[in-house]
Amino acid sequence: MRCDYDLIIVGGGLAGNCLALALKDSGLRIALIEAETPAEREHAPIGQRALALAYGSTVMLAALGVWETIKKTATPIKHIHVSDQGHFGKTRLSADKEGVDALGYVITARHIESHVSEQASKTALTTYCPARVVGLMSSDEAAYVNLNVDQQSVNLTAKLVIGADGGQSTVRQLLAIEQKTTDYFQKAIVTTVRSSLGHNNVAYERFTAEGPLAVLPATGNHSSVVWTRTTEHADDLIQRSDADFLAELQNCFGFRMGSLQLVGPRFAFPVNLIRAEKMVQRRAIIVGNAAHQLHPVAGQGFNLGLRDVLQLAEMLIEQVENEGDIGEPAFLDSYAKARQIDHDKVINFTDGLVRVFSNDWLPVTISRNTALILLDHVNSVKSLVTQHAMGLGGRLQRLGKRRY
Ligand SMILES: Cc1cc2nc3c(=O)[nH]c(=O)nc-3n(C[C@H](O)[C@H](O)[C@H](O)COP(=O)(O)OP(=O)(O)OC[C@H]3O[C@@H](n4cnc5c(N)ncnc54)[C@H](O)[C@@H]3O)c2cc1C
Repeated sequence: MRCDYDLIIVGGGLAGNCLALALKDSGLRIALIEAETPAEREHAPIGQRALALAYGSTVMLAALGVWETIKKTATPIKHIHVSDQGHFGKTRLSADKEGVDALGYVITARHIESHVSEQASKTALTTYCPARVVGLMSSDEAAYVNLNVDQQSVNLTAKLVIGADGGQSTVRQLLAIEQKTTDYFQKAIVTTVRSSLGHNNVAYERFTAEGPLAVLPATGNHSSVVWTRTTEHADDLIQRSDADFLAELQNCFGFRMGSLQLVGPRFAFPVNLIRAEKMVQRRAIIVGNAAHQLHPVAGQGFNLGLRDVLQLAEMLIEQVENEGDIGEPAFLDSYAKARQIDHDKVINFTDGLVRVFSNDWLPVTISRNTALILLDHVNSVKSLVTQHAMGLGGRLQRLGKRRY
């Protein structure tokens, strides 16, 4: 059967656009469908969040040809400082010791999203925007996608549909893929501060019984804050005066960067774990947040999604070169198999961090503080942990070697 497209990508967020970029020379006929206009995305508060990019992700973004520009507004992380509020344990990781310029980089999500989207729009793909996918069916020959464009119904066919439509994925629902949701009853408050002593390119991760606080180096003396509190507390903190909010933030973080000054608006986003029970269905694959929406504690969501996308792109290119069907069940299964271990590792690690560090039961407190101290003193283990924080663990080193 001759389809309208080889591939339909649903969702023009980071995952969808990075996939489109990776496939720009694949010869595939691609359509990308995005529900929101560029202006709507540009002004959405969620675009204000800071993204910590692991070193491995910067290598992959370079392979996609977008890192040079993104790097101009990114701030390098030279050190990572992890501590446990009210307890003795802490650990420090350093770029110098790993022999790299930076352990990772911090960037405002909006900057990377708009650049990647702009670059993807310059490729040969057909974009439907604003357009929302409302229906999806598949047969052995094709996937059938129904869109809502300007109140009009549009039908498209493709050999394969990629759901890159985020944590509330419509594609996941339409495919009847079950999901497991873990509600942490927390919200992440995102804002920007300036500090009197400067950040010296240190990324701070401070665990507290109520949730983690990340203070990430940004341009100038600015730092991006991702502060997780219980839902009620976060809602209350959003309502408070700037002075009240700042006093509580300073109390939680301490004075390691001197006194803090608020320089950006405050927004709160619910945080939970959503994991799809499978990644593939007949003639469809879900990637990025559509497959796994994580707590931001370890800054791994997009890093993991980017690895989905590069793995998928590599396999699709190979399948095209071998003249295989990109929607055949064996191909979809091999993709799912290739991504399973990385998903399990990152999801379990992130979920474990939230649980272990939000626990004030004495034996747990002692164990985690002992672990932090040990980690700080045993160089070989520390180096291993740092390699993983940089997104370089094991097989991951392979991704990003190809130039797209
Ligand atoms: C506070 C916070 C801090 C974070 N910090 C980090 C960090 O430090 N490091 C990190 O790696 N990750 C971090 N993340 C996670 C990261 O932001 C996400 O993993 C990433 O943005 C997900 O990208 P995505 O493209 O999969 O999904 P999304 O960005 O959600 O994009 C999905 C797109 O699909 C579109 N869409 C939805 N439904 C439809 C439909 N029916 N039809 C058409 N289009 C549709 C949407 O409009 C959207 O543009 C953080 C997240 C939060 C909330």
